[in-house]
Amino acid sequence: MDKIPSTDNHIHVDPINGEGPLEVALKFHRSGGTSMIIPNKPTWTVSPQCSFKEAMELVVGYVDEINQETEVQAFAVVGAHPAELSRRVDAGMELAQAEELMRGALETAQNMVLEGQAVGIGEIGRPHYPVSEEEMETHNRLMVYAMELAREADCPVQLHTETSSEEQFKEFAEMARKARLKEEKVIKHFSGPLVLPEENHGLTPSLIASGDVMREALKKGKSFLMETDYLDDKTRPGAVMGPRTVPRRTRKLINAGLLTEEDAYQIHVERPGKLYNIEIDF
Ligand SMILES: [Zn+2]
Repeated sequence: MDKIPSTDNHIHVDPINGEGPLEVALKFHRSGGTSMIIPNKPTWTVSPQCSFKEAMELVVGYVDEINQETEVQAFAVVGAHPAELSRRVDAGMELAQAEELMRGALETAQNMVLEGQAVGIGEIGRPHYPVSEEEMETHNRLMVYAMELAREADCPVQLHTETSSEEQFKEFAEMARKARLKEEKVIKHFSGPLVLPEENHGLTPSLIASGDVMREALKKGKSFLMETDYLDDKTRPGAVMGPRTVPRRTRKLINAGLLTEEDAYQIHVERPGKLYNIEIDF
């Protein structure tokens, strides 16, 4: 049972507010984890002056550290979180100027994918908190733009959005069609068990690796990714699942007969490999 792959599709590392890349990767590895897809944290978690590019370069550095110092394979996903726009608008910036800044950040992210430093654009999306109608329209435009950039770079996007049901998945699938990005290249981060094609409209759900979500999902199918959304923030210890969750959950589900080793290979090696165009050694 030792050779079971486990990929956490959305896990953060943060040496400023948390334990940092090596500590997190070692915990993950000791629980049987094999690969980590790591999106950059927002600029304000680094410093008030931190630029988008700097925040993205930091995560690329953390990924390098993990790849050099541990047996975990790590990959960076870079982007501008929707709250980056809200924060600037709340601080008094004109919406149009904030949108321009966000577009520039997304272009920086695309460049890093084209240069091979990152494997996807994210997390991008729209707020899970209420905003003005104008601001929401801006977020929606930026989502389509990020999808266009992803199509050009042949990479996926990772979406951060409000809690989404079939209705929102349908809307995001329409955005993907508008951007001519394949629906499956739109990865819904922090997804509930929307595994059936008629529920997710062809998007790839990245499921929260809780027991409840997984059991619900497995009644319907196995086309999904798994994640914790671990924040690596010591001030918010219970905010999300710990870094050991995906490998532990995967083993539990196999032991319970709900997942086979072949299923685990599909979820943790085959599907992410194909989506991100990466070679996951296993
Ligand atoms: Zn996140």
